Amino acid sequence: MILQQSPYILYSDGKGNIFEDTSLYTVGRAGWDAFPIPTEEWIELPDGGNLYELPGRKGIGIDVKTGEMRLCEKGWAVAAFIPPAHTGLYIAAYETEKDAPTLPLFCYTAAGWLDDKFYVPAVRIEKDIRQECAGYDAAKIETGTQHLLQAYPHNRLVKHLMENCCMTYNCPAARNFSLGRWECPVPTSPACNANCIGCISFQPEEETIVSTQDRLTFKPKAEEIVEFTVPHLVSAPYPIVSFGQGCEGEPLLMWETIREAIIEIRKHTPNGSININTNGSKPSAVRALCEAGLDSIRVSTNSARKSIYTPYYRPNNYQFEDIVESLKVVRSYGGWASINYFVFPGMTDTVEEYEALRKLIQETDLSMIQWRNFNIDPDWYLGQIGVTETGEMLGVKQLMDLIHEEFTQVKFGYFNPPIERIKGNYESAFAGAELYA
Ligand code: SF4
Repeated sequence: MILQQSPYILYSDGKGNIFEDTSLYTVGRAGWDAFPIPTEEWIELPDGGNLYELPGRKGIGIDVKTGEMRLCEKGWAVAAFIPPAHTGLYIAAYETEKDAPTLPLFCYTAAGWLDDKFYVPAVRIEKDIRQECAGYDAAKIETGTQHLLQAYPHNRLVKHLMENCCMTYNCPAARNFSLGRWECPVPTSPACNANCIGCISFQPEEETIVSTQDRLTFKPKAEEIVEFTVPHLVSAPYPIVSFGQGCEGEPLLMWETIREAIIEIRKHTPNGSININTNGSKPSAVRALCEAGLDSIRVSTNSARKSIYTPYYRPNNYQFEDIVESLKVVRSYGGWASINYFVFPGMTDTVEEYEALRKLIQETDLSMIQWRNFNIDPDWYLGQIGVTETGEMLGVKQLMDLIHEEFTQVKFGYFNPPIERIKGNYESAFAGAELYA
């Protein structure tokens, strides 16, 4: 449904209470600038979304009477955290006061209110329902957790996944593992060879923000990995086992153990997909994993440009060209290659980035773009990578349309596809496909 007008701006009283201000329409931010949002780009805030008050920040809106842009002086600005499977098209627009605290590692999409509903400028980019919040039954998760802990009493990884990831961090992937379905996470690496500014598993002491989860503290053995992944691949619907999770460093630093595990897994079952989420830093290790039977790779990046990638990832002993090479290696083995593309309106949709993305797709024969919301304080991010000017913008929606038109073979989504989707009917072989039939 296309809205007939822009939604009104939201503000908070600083005590967690949120109100609408009907004297101002909401605008969106891209880069360092504020823009009116086309009415056709608003959707209702999807189930599982949250609203955040932004301390030390005043919202920017368009005066309903004068049409002028001005600040909402009634309280703090408000933004939306939109749930997985949806990509935000504009960041919340606000003015930041001098002593405002750095915001934690979440995404801050624009949000508004109209006719008793919350709205966000976003698109549903992924049909797969694996992380729909309505699909998580707490009692079944608790039962599944106890079952796995009893089934694998000596397995440190199952203990970590169930006690930390599932029951403490509420990790969607770990909860799906406890429910015996879809993508099962397999963290392996306590260390990393990058120093991402917005790392979700490690933040330096001197930073005011904290990582959203702690890194694994041990190096699992291949036997520990094989013990629970084989039963998952054999019995789960649309089964995937994924190395490289938010609660660890870089899995390629553990490639020998992962290779050993893949070889052993494939001795027991041909089922499902074996995937690795990675920073792509070691193409030779990726080649060894492909030789062993790796099916798919997802390389994370904030940009298709080396000049934007390097100041964010701050890589140790590797460089941007290595991550490109890792994507090419997997494609050369006929594997599925995705980028985990951190979408930042005003950076991702610049003409320069668009040209670089086109080049990356052509050079790597990329299979998929996972259009992920960038979980980071916008001012802090641009400040840390030294971006004061962002260049000509296309709009995230238009960027997606241009890429889709030119590269029809490149799939858009938010999650790693199961082997049934990779090898079978992409449009119908995924969790929840029956909902679209
Ligand atoms: S590659 Fe991952 S684990 Fe390593 S610093 Fe970046 S976000 Fe953190």
